[in-house]
Amino acid sequence: MALISCPECNKTVSDKATACVHCGNPLKTSEDSPALPAPPASAVPVRQGVAQAVENRAGSSLWGFQVFIAACIAGYLASSWWVFGGVFVGLAVLANIPYLGKLVGFAMAVAFGVLVYYVCKELGSPEAGYVIGGIVFLGFLAANMAMSRHLGDLKASKADQ
Ligand SMILES: [Zn+2]
Repeated sequence: MALISCPECNKTVSDKATACVHCGNPLKTSEDSPALPAPPASAVPVRQGVAQAVENRAGSSLWGFQVFIAACIAGYLASSWWVFGGVFVGLAVLANIPYLGKLVGFAMAVAFGVLVYYVCKELGSPEAGYVIGGIVFLGFLAANMAMSRHLGDLKASKADQ
């Protein structure tokens, strides 16, 4: 990419630009640069977008698993199917709220990390608790942030239609 000066305002602009970014003057490239096939240039971001979307969906599955487990634990502790259902639906609704969804995702990752730590400690290995709890926390955190993005993807694709 080379820089040329705009004939209108004399500021430097890219020779690839079709119009001056400063004054909007349409630019004619001296040599008609061979039209680059568009796909190679745009394919990479699209592929990255798809890969990201797939990752986000995988995160959502893991999020669903956490919601299910959390609802089971809450329902078991309260010995009530109503609590189970309430927690399940409540978390699903909260996840859909921007920002709050991320916060809930973070809190869930912390909760499961701590839960795993205590389970390991009960089993007699606090060290394992730190390590496995930490891994669970980081894994679930990544998954839950991806879940948040996935819900955002779904909203964006609905808005497109
Ligand atoms: Zn200009």
